Amino acid sequence: MRAEIIAVGTELLLGQITNTNATFLSKELAGLGIDVFHHTVVGDNPERLKEVLRVAEKRSDLIIFSGGLGPTKDDMTKQTIANYLGKDLVLDQPTMDQVLAYHQKIKKEMPENNKMQAMVIEGSTVLPNTTGLAAGMFLQHQDTCLLLLPGPPNELYPMFLNTGKQLLLPLLGQQEFLLSRVLRFYGIGESKLATLLDDLIENQTNPTLATYAGTYEVTLRLTAKANSESEANLLLDDLENQVQSLVGSYFYGYGDQNSLPQVVVQALQKHQLTITAAESLTGGLFQSELASIPGASKIFPGGFVTYSPEAKSSLLAISPHIIEQEGVVSEACAKAMAEHVRAKMATDIGVSLTGVAGPDELEQQPAGTVWIGLASKGKEPTAYLYHFAHQRNGNRERAVLTAFDLVRK
Ligand code: ATP
Ligand code: MG
Repeated sequence: MRAEIIAVGTELLLGQITNTNATFLSKELAGLGIDVFHHTVVGDNPERLKEVLRVAEKRSDLIIFSGGLGPTKDDMTKQTIANYLGKDLVLDQPTMDQVLAYHQKIKKEMPENNKMQAMVIEGSTVLPNTTGLAAGMFLQHQDTCLLLLPGPPNELYPMFLNTGKQLLLPLLGQQEFLLSRVLRFYGIGESKLATLLDDLIENQTNPTLATYAGTYEVTLRLTAKANSESEANLLLDDLENQVQSLVGSYFYGYGDQNSLPQVVVQALQKHQLTITAAESLTGGLFQSELASIPGASKIFPGGFVTYSPEAKSSLLAISPHIIEQEGVVSEACAKAMAEHVRAKMATDIGVSLTGVAGPDELEQQPAGTVWIGLASKGKEPTAYLYHFAHQRNGNRERAVLTAFDLVRK
């Protein structure tokens, strides 16, 4: 089975965005044992897309398209392919209902061009879009299969994983059961993870494993093929055990959707533990992240943003000795903030974040220096020192995630 990926979009050619969809799809196809022989990028131009199609059709059994399914003038992938194949575009009613329901919900009239998102190439299987509006399509034309996916990665990934992949299985001539498991890691980069798992990645056949770099975290997708779900699960268990023995200390949870803050909130709910925070450099970001998770109100009564030294002393009663002698970016200050906020809010856990977001240094400490304090009822508070190397807001986001990671542990 020879496959190729055609990414459509002038922004890709102008270097404004990176073709991460092709990277994602290639990894997924490799996991299925499908050989990808070509990646093509073509602008939003019907003539040039047809040229690319003409070549692809001759050399590939499967062509996957990314992008250009939207409602605007520059989106012309399905129109061009339909035209090339001599087929019409027809209305897909379930997608149209979804587009209409969306506009009703946001209380806006549907712009006429939005109907385009529900138009599909006649005779194709429609792939529902669970995170956006434009439908995907799968069709066979002579000896070639075509799969059309939307451009935004947050639409393309779930569409491929939830529906696209299943549609490809019969093409592989196997009636196999395919099962994936996603493992999530924090505190390790993609290249280090890949290096530590080098032997496993090198020797993979079934199950396969692929790494994906997120913002500040890495996910690993394990995929097994077997004759039944239980057999596939056994294969995944075996591979996961090997992975966990090598990099288990960075592992925090399963699944595509479960972020580190979500995992922490779930664990706190499960153990009926409450949490609060006193934040300096993160200015409330940790608490905002907590509040963004459904059910947070059960474990989070509120907290403090104490940005200035004065606020630290007036709101949290941090002693003048600590502020003046030790400094606000110090172990002593982080511990006192965590313990004082925990006592004030009467929670089980208190978290504090104090440090130098940047770009300038503070108290002669470089940007990226962060102390995170942790206080638990009945225990001495602790604090941990970090040196992040991002820009100002990157340092703040890393500090927040690292605080969640500390709470998790
Ligand atoms: P929309 O309905 O949002 O217009 P679309 O299917 O028409 O979706 P495009 O208009 O081609 O897709 O791209 C929309 C956005 O998706 C781009 O601005 C870009 O952010 C992202 N995107 C498109 N193609 C790729 C790609 N190959 N890799 C990564 N991101 C992409
Ligand atoms: Mg578009």
